[in-house]
Amino acid sequence: MLTDWNVPFRTLIDAAPDGMVVCDQRGVLVLTNSEIDRMFGYAHDELLGKPIEVLIPERVRSRHHAHVASYVAQPRLRPMGSNLDLHGVRKDGSMFPVEISLSPCATERGMLIIAGVRDVTDRRELERDKVRANSYLTSAVEAVQEAFLLFDEHDRVRMVNSAAREMVGEAGDAAIIGKTFEELSRAILAGGIYDLAGESPEAWYQRRLAYHRDPVGTLEVRTRAGRHVRITERRTAEHGTVTTIADITDDVQRAAELGEARELAEAASAAKSEFLSSMSHELRTPLNAILGFAQLLERDRKQPLSQRQLERLGHVLRGGEHLLRLIDDVLDLSRIEAGRIAVSTEPVAVTEVVAEVVHTLQPMAARAQIGIVVAAGAEPAPAVMADRTRLAQILMNLGSNAIKYGKPEGRVELRTEVRGDLVRVTVVDDGIGIPADKRDRIFEPFQRAGQETGPIEGTGIGLTISKRLAMLMRGTLGFESEPGHGSAFWVELPRHRQAADAQPVAAVSARPSPLAAGARRHTVVYVEDNPSNIAFMRDLVEELASVELITAATAEIGLELIRARPPDVVIMDINLPGMSGFEAVRRLKEWPETRAIPVIGLSAAALAADTSRARDAGFHRYLTKPVKVDELTRALEDLLER
Ligand code: ADP
Repeated sequence: MLTDWNVPFRTLIDAAPDGMVVCDQRGVLVLTNSEIDRMFGYAHDELLGKPIEVLIPERVRSRHHAHVASYVAQPRLRPMGSNLDLHGVRKDGSMFPVEISLSPCATERGMLIIAGVRDVTDRRELERDKVRANSYLTSAVEAVQEAFLLFDEHDRVRMVNSAAREMVGEAGDAAIIGKTFEELSRAILAGGIYDLAGESPEAWYQRRLAYHRDPVGTLEVRTRAGRHVRITERRTAEHGTVTTIADITDDVQRAAELGEARELAEAASAAKSEFLSSMSHELRTPLNAILGFAQLLERDRKQPLSQRQLERLGHVLRGGEHLLRLIDDVLDLSRIEAGRIAVSTEPVAVTEVVAEVVHTLQPMAARAQIGIVVAAGAEPAPAVMADRTRLAQILMNLGSNAIKYGKPEGRVELRTEVRGDLVRVTVVDDGIGIPADKRDRIFEPFQRAGQETGPIEGTGIGLTISKRLAMLMRGTLGFESEPGHGSAFWVELPRHRQAADAQPVAAVSARPSPLAAGARRHTVVYVEDNPSNIAFMRDLVEELASVELITAATAEIGLELIRARPPDVVIMDINLPGMSGFEAVRRLKEWPETRAIPVIGLSAAALAADTSRARDAGFHRYLTKPVKVDELTRALEDLLER
């Protein structure tokens, strides 16, 4: 034992942060520092006198002796087994990675070997973590579908994935990694990958650089191969840049296809609306003659019809009116679907509308042997905000359904109730009800909930229109139904804030009609190009003793007639050859001598928008064809009375 010299030496090596052992030429341990004892799990000095092989793994022990001998033969300072994975073995047999450096030490007692031993468990662990993190990152970047490039803070490429390599056309990383943004971009430009669309390469590069410097949004470019790519760049926290390049060709194509399809669909829908609108106009014109003359026949006082003829005429009138409703429904539906229906809401007295609807439906109910009533004991409901005509249309739909799908001898009741800020009108019937499995679809157009093959007439669009109209008026429409027992359909609309808004009902005039025989003679100019409409009007006026009718086939002729001899009233068709009725009215309003003459507009267009346009244009009344004899007579009376 080298106990005499190891005292200062030991103090020295104990201060070292690494483990240190000293052995003699036979490999016997002569000195260890306390770090070695701790590292290998031995007590102080326990190792002294033991062969150094106790500290090394079993499998290398046999060879170790020879290593020691060869070191003694050529002693110098060097790391041990520099390329080897060296391990130490603790007293308990467990192993740990070590790094060892060797140095010879010549003493009076011959050469000793000093070995510095470092436990590198933590370092190896860190190295392994680093490798693992790197491979995670690499495979994540590879897994990205887009081309991926990472530029470091010096704007040099640090990472790429194979999609990026493929794009640039370089097989190995070496050709890309380390290149600056400028070098790479210019190489790509020289490679002719992008379609510059006439731009010079320099201008293109400058544009690309501008985006690279201030990457806001994305940059879309085309490749020579006809692909569309989207370049996206973002800064990293380390002042580098991540660039991704996505092939969006499919998306671009799909968007273009969708756009085309949408345009086609819109064009088709516009064509459909246009077709329906002109079709309805075309259908209304002959209907005008049918219904008009039928009404005149019905009212002919000079040659009254027989009871039998009147009954038959009743069928003609009802059939014509039904046809008219269908035309209006189809037109309404197409307008609603095209989003081209406008409702104008105002305070409306619900009670009045309900009473009118019940009154109008009475004959239909009577034919079906059903009693239709307004619920008894109901107080007058407050006004709602609605489009009066549209509200009536909804209630007519619900009411006529209740009758159609009611039971003979049954009963239909209209109830009005206030529910908070809403007013609900419910149409209750005790009819056939709606099967549970059909309820979901009755608001879809042309769905007739099993009635398609039944005897009850219908098209399956009334409820669709009603529901959409209710929604347009900020209301809702719903129902409850029990098959075999009946249904209750309701419409709910916002209540008008000021209570008791019922529109004052016009006082019934007891004065004699200005159209009656014996009254002053009045002249009426009728501007109309359709001969059957003119014939109808002539017949109608013949009934009115005090009216002289002057007709004109065009607006131009009409205007001349009117200026030459101002009439009491003008009835003006809207769709005229040459100047339209709208234009003609505008001119009448301009001339002082004709400004005050009341004008009744007459048109086959039955749209709310047309009505308000007509009012704006200066028509005093606006009636839609087919003309209702009573309606026209009343309008004439009103205007002549002024
Ligand atoms: P339709 O022209 O067929 O009457 P609607 O749109 O008005 O079309 O109604 C759609 C379907 O809903 C009807 O075909 C009918 O099957 C059902 N329906 C509507 N109202 C009632 C009701 N009061 N009682 C029973 N079924 C009804």
